[in-house]
Amino acid sequence: KKVADRYLKREILGEGTYGVVYKAIDTKTGHTVAIKKIRLGRQKEGVNFTALREIKLLKELKDPNIIELIHAFPHKGNLHLVFEFMETDLEAVIRDPNIFLSPGDIKSYFQMTLKGLAVCHNKWVLHRDMKPNNLLIGSNGQLKLADFGLARIFGSPGRKFTHQVFARWYRAPELLFGAKQYGASVDVWAAGCIFAELLNRRPFLQGDSDIDQLGKIFQKLGTPTPLLWHDLEWLPDFVEYSSQITQPWRKLCPTASDDALDLLSKMFTYDPRTRISVQQALEHRYFTSIPLPTDPAKLPRPA
Ligand code: ADP
Repeated sequence: KKVADRYLKREILGEGTYGVVYKAIDTKTGHTVAIKKIRLGRQKEGVNFTALREIKLLKELKDPNIIELIHAFPHKGNLHLVFEFMETDLEAVIRDPNIFLSPGDIKSYFQMTLKGLAVCHNKWVLHRDMKPNNLLIGSNGQLKLADFGLARIFGSPGRKFTHQVFARWYRAPELLFGAKQYGASVDVWAAGCIFAELLNRRPFLQGDSDIDQLGKIFQKLGTPTPLLWHDLEWLPDFVEYSSQITQPWRKLCPTASDDALDLLSKMFTYDPRTRISVQQALEHRYFTSIPLPTDPAKLPRPA
């Protein structure tokens, strides 16, 4: 029996934030797909119009570095989102001890991450949940942003406030201080964390609570001063932290090139208004200096 007269269900791939994800065959195209089943929960009348409009927007976003939403349909009280099937994700690559990432490989994976993000930001959509396991990798080595926009459409189950949508380790300081208004710069901070994680092969800022997350940030990057970040003291959850000095980037990411460190430091600018944009980051000399980004088809992936 087919779902929606079209998809042959295969095994469950995992349980995500919004519900079960399973593998299926699209009988219309013969392609393997991943279907994300989203529990609609309390919205008894079905998906609201805002959600439908947003989903339409996602369906129209076609880009090599964004996962394609092939089809969206309601079925048995759940919303089903059909995506192209992806072999692996960046977290699996970073964690695999058998994989060596050359500076060109890192540059390639990170460039694809920023390219996908730039497409979102150009359409005025924030990703809001950037983390390595949301960066999926296809059989041709192309990296694609997944779960993009879902945080805004469906909210985050189990999390009360929308400023807490981010996986903590990738959360920008303005979100941790409770900013209600924030912009594309939150994705830039998260991308910076992913860049550092690619370089060091371990998560960069691993806090075990929101307070501790800020502590971990200040321990490495120094405590922000009102001079560096004007609006800091007016953020809802602002608390003073004992002052710490900035550690040299060379020490924080010992294997990175000077260009990589320069870009990294610009992505970790405290004041969201002066933090580098995704477009500016893509134009940074890091991407044009040698070694050039590895051809995606030649990138190392888990066996
Ligand atoms: P989370 O919400 O925790 O980020 P997801 O809902 O994105 O998790 O995904 C749950 C599981 O399904 C994960 O193991 C993920 O690898 C897998 N998955 C999600 N999307 C795809 C896809 N397009 N292709 C293959 N596997 C996928």
